[in-house]
Amino acid sequence: MEILNGKELSARLKNKIAEQIATDYLEKGKQPPALACVLVGDDPASKIYVASKEKACRAVGMGSIIRVLPANSTEQEVESCIKELAADNSVSAILLQLPLPRGLNERKILNSIPPQKDADALTDICLGKLFSKTHTIAPCTASGIMELLKDKQIEISGKRAVVIGRSLLVGKSVANLLEQANATVTICHSKTQNLDQIASQADILIVAIGKPNFVTPNMVKTGAVVIDVGINRTENGIVGDVDYSSVAPKCSYITPVPGGVGPMTIAMLLSNTLTLAKEQEKMKEKNSEHSR
Ligand code: NAP
Repeated sequence: MEILNGKELSARLKNKIAEQIATDYLEKGKQPPALACVLVGDDPASKIYVASKEKACRAVGMGSIIRVLPANSTEQEVESCIKELAADNSVSAILLQLPLPRGLNERKILNSIPPQKDADALTDICLGKLFSKTHTIAPCTASGIMELLKDKQIEISGKRAVVIGRSLLVGKSVANLLEQANATVTICHSKTQNLDQIASQADILIVAIGKPNFVTPNMVKTGAVVIDVGINRTENGIVGDVDYSSVAPKCSYITPVPGGVGPMTIAMLLSNTLTLAKEQEKMKEKNSEHSR
């Protein structure tokens, strides 16, 4: 069994991004890309995530802007904050920290982010592009998972992948990327029958449900690759959706929690921000050529 070390891979990816920012922006005297995070309310976990995203931006030489809005903000207030950031030329990408406080329409607010500045590629337009394979970026957690598999040259084509969880944020997005990489994909959810049996057929098992230690050895094929996306705060600290100690011995590869998928999400957020910044530059150049 080998551990898929997201912390280490994410550090490597971040170093590459830092080099690119230095050569393409800082050394040329150009303003580096900047990520704006919008945090609504005071959920302690969300606050930690936003702070670590800011730290990661700074560490690679990117700009970071944080907008904090009160939990009782209206949809219009959140949307007008996003609109302001969208109009700011120094902002390359916007991330709306999820989940939003109850009562706010998440899809509607997400869709107020212009697709060309959508850091997590979660707007309807970006998801449409992902599903039609015309995307340049994908939701950060899903692409982070694909990077983990790619780094170890884990074969995907022709393999049977099972994704437990069907959120747009993780399950559906990663299922789509796996299918694009020619896996045969089954998506499971809370209404799935015979889940144990389906999961136990997977060569690649992705678990994103938010239930501590849900996956047990009987649900895992010997030699499977297991990717645990879950982040669950328990009395014993942060644990994943997979019962790591009993499942790990059965796997060929497994991600730990913490230190697996989590750090990859942040690295891909930086990568997406850089990609969007470059696309915006190209678009500006194209527009100025047209107006000449
Ligand atoms: P979500 O939107 O709440 O979706 C959870 C999914 O799990 C739903 O599709 C739900 O099915 C399914 N589910 C729940 N209980 C189930 C059960 N007993 N059996 C089978 N399926 C079940 O959650 P999410 O945003 O995808 O996040 C999932 C987990 O990943 C959470 O722990 C979250 O904290 C973590 N996460 C981690 C990262 C990272 O960077 N590591 C990023 C994002 C999320 P239904 O659709 O039928 O309700």
